[in-house]
Amino acid sequence: MGFVTGKKALVLGIANERSLAYAIGRRLVAEGAQLAVTYQGEVFEDRVRKLADSLGDPLLVSCDVTRDEDIERTVAAVGRELGGIDMLVHAIAYADKEDLVGPYYTVSRPGFLKAMEIGAYSFTAVARAALPLMEGRGGGSMLTLTYFGAEKVIQHYNVMGVTKAALEASVRYLANDFGHLGVRVNALSAGPIKTLSAKGVSDFNSMLAHSREKAPLQRNVTGEDIGAAGLFLLSDLSSGVTGEVLHVDCGYSIIGM
Ligand code: NAD
Repeated sequence: MGFVTGKKALVLGIANERSLAYAIGRRLVAEGAQLAVTYQGEVFEDRVRKLADSLGDPLLVSCDVTRDEDIERTVAAVGRELGGIDMLVHAIAYADKEDLVGPYYTVSRPGFLKAMEIGAYSFTAVARAALPLMEGRGGGSMLTLTYFGAEKVIQHYNVMGVTKAALEASVRYLANDFGHLGVRVNALSAGPIKTLSAKGVSDFNSMLAHSREKAPLQRNVTGEDIGAAGLFLLSDLSSGVTGEVLHVDCGYSIIGM
């Protein structure tokens, strides 16, 4: 018997086998959950289909979170096929490459708004749309992925740090809005891991090296670390936790000089 046997999850943000959403999805399946998984349009469809086996053959739906109709279609399909969900994983972010290099202040208006829409607003939009899928099941747990660049200046993280600050604030407001329904909302602040989006951050390898050097555990986080902490926040193991940002970063964020 797994920690989430009989539970159902909607997972947004798998691009390939390195995705943090994949690490979490795999752990949920290993612990007995049934998944629905979205992918960002045709470009990602083949890559995600290849992973279907390892995710317990989930319901696959195409969803671009900048399109309300895609979010509505996704929720309708999940309602129809799964009946409802107990867990929601949002692991989505984007910023134009030119905004992840040099100083922050050069960010353009379209670049700022696009990063905000995809990285911060989409969590609120998806959470709102998915809420009825949880209400029918007496509550649930929603999780988004964030980074330390929301709290402190991290070289080159720039506009993404600003979107993560908005995302973390959204977690607190959503937790307050949904608490009376038994729906918990939390964020997992992951240490750096080399994924497709991470490659867009200029000089990401130095970030990895610095974090490995400075972190009390003297290593970088792994997909397994993220999967395990994701399981904790999504399952009843964290039944008394909501509105929280949990650092899963080998302790990097507690160190000063
Ligand atoms: P990833 O590239 O594997 O995942 C990012 C996902 O966002 C992709 O699946 C992509 O398709 C999706 N996406 C982007 N724009 C979208 C849109 N308009 N509609 C739908 N989907 C869209 O990279 P990842 O590192 O696994 O990122 C997942 C989350 O984890 C992000 O929020 C990221 O900021 C966060 N995070 C990553 C790290 C890291 O070091 N990798 C650290 C902390 C937090």
